[in-house]
Amino acid sequence: MLAFGQSKVPFIKRDNFMAKSNDRLDSIVREARRNAEQREAGYRAQALKMYPWVCGVCTRTFTHSNLQLLEVHHKNGNHDDNPPDGSNWELLCTYCHEHEHSKLKDMAGRQDVKQEGPVATHNPFAALKDLLERKKPE
Ligand SMILES: [Zn+2]
Ligand SMILES: [Zn+2]
Repeated sequence: MLAFGQSKVPFIKRDNFMAKSNDRLDSIVREARRNAEQREAGYRAQALKMYPWVCGVCTRTFTHSNLQLLEVHHKNGNHDDNPPDGSNWELLCTYCHEHEHSKLKDMAGRQDVKQEGPVATHNPFAALKDLLERKKPE
């Protein structure tokens, strides 16, 4: 009887915890999204203050009338990496920016193929397993 009662309590507690943590997770996600949007507006304004309004690839120049086509690219690909000296930012027109990202995706794809090599061939482990299994009967 005592054991039954004891085992029941943690289940109730865990259900409550799950419901609460899901609510909390939702609000964390909402908050993170809001922060990211604010941060994006923040670093774009900073980068536009810091750099001339010129695309870093095609050198097209921009004015207030078409400035929405000039975007902030993160050189190391990490949008959360926004050093105040602007060293991770590059201003690119929307076309070159898209091209830059499709290049990055290509590179990532090639890296994936390379990484799959040793994972797909389990030869070292298979050989080890054979060795262990062969040794067992002895
Ligand atoms: Zn461009
Ligand atoms: Zn970018």
